[in-house]
Amino acid sequence: MIDAHTHVHDVAFDEDRDAVIERAQSAGIENLITIGTDLLESRRSVACAERYPGVWASVGIHPHVFNERGDEETVVASVGELRNICRSSEKVIAIGECGLDYFSHDADGIITEKQKRAQRVGFLAQVALAQELRLPIIIHTRPSFGSMDAYEDMYTLLNSPGRDHSPVILHCYMGDAEVTEKFLGLPQVSFSFAGNITYKARAGSDTERVLGMIPIDRILAETDCPYLAPIPHRGKRNEPAYVTLVAQHIAETKKMPYTSLEEQLRDNTWRIFPKLLDI
Ligand SMILES: [Zn+2]
Ligand SMILES: [Zn+2]
Repeated sequence: MIDAHTHVHDVAFDEDRDAVIERAQSAGIENLITIGTDLLESRRSVACAERYPGVWASVGIHPHVFNERGDEETVVASVGELRNICRSSEKVIAIGECGLDYFSHDADGIITEKQKRAQRVGFLAQVALAQELRLPIIIHTRPSFGSMDAYEDMYTLLNSPGRDHSPVILHCYMGDAEVTEKFLGLPQVSFSFAGNITYKARAGSDTERVLGMIPIDRILAETDCPYLAPIPHRGKRNEPAYVTLVAQHIAETKKMPYTSLEEQLRDNTWRIFPKLLDI
């Protein structure tokens, strides 16, 4: 089993990282991917992957980084540095997280059109890097409150002609049925679910229905730790061992035995991240 999206290199694990990774291994999580969100965090993710045999790195720049720094010169320089980080280690197996995030943490609550454009430029530069290095892309998509806007825009970007078909993972997937139908039409897309699928469904949310729509060979499970701990750990620090709770929820929703889902998730991982097998 794999935890397809963690931040185990994060400072939240500085005190007890060895124990956290050991607990994951005891829970049957042989592999986990630790994900960079900017240049510094990407370097840390690679250092962490170099240290632990079952830990792999993905390097990328989160869309919010481009809100203030989306000029072309900065984007080109940052992605050039990402390329160097990729080349520094055999354990880099993906690019990301990168994507579109229209959820504002500022008091005014608004992501401007200029910021959206900057996020798009930053994202597409990382897609180009992934294609150049033949690596899959781990995508972060967060719409503005009560909307599917970032998913709609992401679909448009992924569906553009001329884009080759590097595997794409939509991490912490929370799209509604309508947008899921569209993504299902793009064969390169896989859907990775996090602990928030175990939270009581919000009114109007169609997580169960969406899970039902997606074939199991296009699903991954992740924790996104230290965030989004699944029930019954909600509100506490999350860790990779809890990905089994996410997988259990998927198996129950799909009405399939847990062991078959586990096997399927392993096959999906090897198909999507072939470098896991190479080393
Ligand atoms: Zn994310
Ligand atoms: Zn993340």
